[in-house]
Formats: sequence, C-alpha cells, structure tokens
Amino acid sequence: MSEEFDILIVNGLIVDGAGSGAYRGSVAIRGERIAEVGGDVRGDARIVLDVGGLAVAPGFIDVHNHGDLSILYYPEAEGFLRQGITTFVGGNCGTSPGPYGDYLGYAYFLYDLFCDVAPHMYYLDRVLPRDLVNERHRELYGWEIDWHTMGEFFKRVEAKGLSPNYVPLVGHGEIRTLVMGQDYRRKATRREVRRMQEEVRRAMEEGCRGLSVGRDYEPGYYADLEELVACARVAARYGGIYTSHSLRTGLRRERRPGEPPPPKAKGVQEAIEVGRRCKIPIQISHLSPLYDVYPAGSEVMTEASVKATLKLIDDARREGVDVSFDVIPHHLTGGIYTSPWLAGLLLPWLRVTGSRERLAQALRMEEFRAEIKASIMSGKWYGLNPNINPNWAAEPTIVSCREERFMGKTLAEVAEMLGLEPIDALMEVLARDPDTKAVRRGDDDSAKLMFYKHPEMMIGIDTFALDEKWECRHPPWYMPNENSYGGLPRYFRRAVRETKTLTLEEAVRKVTSLPARKFRLRDRGIIKPGAYSDIVVMNPETITDRGDQLEPRRYPEGIEHVIVNGVLVVERGRHTGARPGRILYRE
Ligand SMILES: [Zn+2]
Repeated sequence: MSEEFDILIVNGLIVDGAGSGAYRGSVAIRGERIAEVGGDVRGDARIVLDVGGLAVAPGFIDVHNHGDLSILYYPEAEGFLRQGITTFVGGNCGTSPGPYGDYLGYAYFLYDLFCDVAPHMYYLDRVLPRDLVNERHRELYGWEIDWHTMGEFFKRVEAKGLSPNYVPLVGHGEIRTLVMGQDYRRKATRREVRRMQEEVRRAMEEGCRGLSVGRDYEPGYYADLEELVACARVAARYGGIYTSHSLRTGLRRERRPGEPPPPKAKGVQEAIEVGRRCKIPIQISHLSPLYDVYPAGSEVMTEASVKATLKLIDDARREGVDVSFDVIPHHLTGGIYTSPWLAGLLLPWLRVTGSRERLAQALRMEEFRAEIKASIMSGKWYGLNPNINPNWAAEPTIVSCREERFMGKTLAEVAEMLGLEPIDALMEVLARDPDTKAVRRGDDDSAKLMFYKHPEMMIGIDTFALDEKWECRHPPWYMPNENSYGGLPRYFRRAVRETKTLTLEEAVRKVTSLPARKFRLRDRGIIKPGAYSDIVVMNPETITDRGDQLEPRRYPEGIEHVIVNGVLVVERGRHTGARPGRILYRE
C-alpha cells in the first residue's frame, strides 16, 4: 500500500516565510520535500496532523550559533529543535571545529576540560597542544579529537547523525592557530597569510559556506585588515559569506585605567570595509548599539544610539555593500553561558580558592581583600573592570542571600546601605554569604525591538547544542544561556505578541526566507511546493520562553511539531530522537 503523502498537515494557518499574508490551509509532504500547499489539498497520508488552526511556518534558521562542535556530543540538539530551529549556522566568531593542527584553539563548549588541563587565574592560554587536550578528552569521553580538516570533521558528524541541519563556516581563528601555533601575538608574515589563504580555500572546497572572524578573541585580535581582506578574498571567490564578531569591547584581557576601549563602531566599519574591498556579503554578528549611553535607560538616547548604528549599515548598503546583521533575543544575558552566583564576579579568586565557601573564608583577611581590589582597579580582570564600566554595580540584583536586608537590592544600593565602595560591598556580601545569587534586572529591551524592525535583521541565539542537564564543574559553575532553549520563542513573544513590533508574517520572514537568501540555502526557509520540508507548527498565542537566569534550562512552550527534511523531530512538544538533519554544504 502506498499513501499519496508521507505527512499531511491540515487545518493550519500558513505563514509561508516570504512575508505574504497568512491563510488557512494544508501542507502535504512527500519524502523530504513539500508536495502541495493550499486551501484544498486532498489525499491520503501516512501521518495526518490536524493542527487546529496553529501557525505552520518554515523551520527557523539560526544564523549565529556555536553548535557545530557540540553537535558531536549532543546530536539531537534538543534545545534547538524544541524552539523550532531546523537549521543553524555554525563556526561563528572566528571559531570552528577545524582545521586543526598540533594546537587547538580554546573550544568554549569544553570549558571544564580546558580548566582541567590549563589551570589559570585570569586568562586561559587560548592555544593549547592537541595532545594535552586529548589526554583529558579521552578520559572524559572515551575518544579523541583526531580530525584535521573541516571535511574530516563533517564525516564524523554525518557518521553520528544530527537532528537539525548545519550550515558550516570556517573560523579565521582556527586557521590562524593552524598557521602560527602559539606564536600568534603579532602581525602575520606574508608567507603566513598565503598559508591562511590556502586553508580558507581548502575549507571552502570541502563545503564551508564562508569565513567568520572573532576580533575580540585570541588569536583573531592580532590580525590586521590586510590579513582579513586576504582571507575574505578567497571565500568571496567561492561565493562565500563573511561573518564578523567585530572589535567591540577590545581584547578580553586587562585594560589599564585611562586606556579607553576601542570605539565599537570601528569594528563594524572594519567588517564593512572587508565587504567593500572583497565584494563579499557581510553579516555583522550579534549587533548591539554601537554607542554606549550612560546612564542606561533613557529611551531617547537609546533610540539615538540605535539609529546611528543602523545608519552605518544602511549607508553601506546604499553604497552597494551587501551587509546585514543578527541580534541575540535576550536583552540582558546574551552569550553562551550564564551563572547565578554573585561570587562569579570575583572569578579569578574563586578559581584559586576553589569553592565559594573557601573564597568567603579568605575574604576575612584584610590583605586578601586589598589585593583583590588593587588588581581589579588596575584593570587586570576584564570580567569586572570599573575603568570600562563605572556603573557595573547597578547591574547585579541580589535575589538570594542569607542577609534578608540585601534581598532585591542592587550591589550599588547595598554599597550605599553599608557605606562602602561597591567593590568592598561585593566582598562584604560574599564574606557573609558566599552562596548569594544575583541576576541582571531590567525589562527594557527597547533597543532590541528597534533593531527587530530593520528589514535585514536576523536572529542568532549564540549558543551550543546541549541537553537540559548540562552545567560546568568549574567556577563559576556556568549553565547554558537561556537562549539555548528559548531564544526564538522569546523573540516571537516580545516582537509579535506582547509589543506588536512585527507582524507574525514579518517576524517569521526574518528567521526563514531572509537568512536562507543571505546564506544561499536553496529551497529552504519557505513553504512552497518543491521546497525542503523544514517546518514548525507553533501557537503564536502561547509561544514563550520559560527559563530565567537562575534556571535557564527549561524548554519553551508553544512549539507543537517540528519537521526536518520531511521527518518529525518534535511531535506534540517531544523530541522523537530522529536525526534527519544534514550538513548543508556550499553548492
Ligand atoms: Zn561572538
């Protein structure tokens, strides 16, 4: 017996991804493609899903993601699928799972492992011998990171299978590490740049879709414009894209008092210049307002900053540079990890003492406090640097503490209560209760919403493929960022339902057909006959993220079914275990 269709979705509100008006109808799937779409699709199907009026949209495409390495460890990527992501772009911020030589760049996903093999106080050595990493990797996982090229890595991923589709980029940082090893804190020679070009060429030949740079990180920080242009030229020749984690906050290393942070706008201008010179499409990663406003919270000033930021983008577009950008949905806690422990602000000393309890004990010594303070004021620790952010104490709000009177107060308020400077107040609170928890408060996401309106805006959750149990063993006991589970639902909740900043159709377009066009993913990001059937069935009335800074590891609500390449991966809100995802190689 053979039914006409494999899956028939009936009674849906079809939001096609192109931005056209939603309409009632059905979607019929045969094999991996959409067979028919419309108001009167008839026929037998192996699986019939009556979705009772819910929205049927193309699967979401997350353009800024770091799931590429972690997909080997968590091939089902439940955090992605449960929020409707059917395709993610990996290899961003200059870091990818290859090409590797004798040294490995620090893989953030393996934070615990890197802490084990390279104990450090302030900053980890970002480039470590592969053998050293593998010794511990074998103990932890029973296998080694033994591949070299991206092509070899792809074979690993395909052998294991994966639930979502993966669009690979190659990281400039990885290539720089391969060519320069541990001697990377300098300008590359012309010969080295030529070798980098050769590696870009190889990665593109193996199927990568572009090159990413991580200009805040080692070793990418030490590159100059000529090197970036030389590498981007090769990617451009293959029709690739250039994604830029631009110079925003400067190198994540010490910054002395009086040493001003580099203007953020310069970083974006640099990426645009690469686009101009190489005629390569540019994606500005995780864009935020490029002009800081102190004190934060003034709507007029925020709007001025966002407008000036978007003007940079629009001017370049008018000039013919194909530049677009992505935004991380959570307005407070973007980034890959989050930690609720206030003690995390003193991470270097937390590392050395080994536990919150022992840190509190050490804080009873006046000399210890004085040393910490001197170190912080000298700008040694980028995680807490009043020279860069004089208002740092206004951010952490205490939500759990043995001292009742500190509850609900910001550190700045506690400092005032105690008549102490904020750093002293921080140490005092931790000495009294090392297990104090703090969150970043504030519901002002007005800048995000302003960015959402831009026609070339896309979404990137900036996280790993993980499960709902993952957490770090080492201080500050990181947990995955909330976006790992609920970034897209949060975007729909805020942009569409609560603020009506975007229509449902427009919000869907920005995470489907728009990124598909930019990354040249043919027949994806759209619901039409012949397109791949990557589909999300969602409830726009209830869709919401559920995690918070204290417990981010919660799956969202409102995502009913998710189909990847014609296979149900999420059915009635549950992951089916299916791994129909593919690596979407350069065509
Ligand atoms: Zn980044």
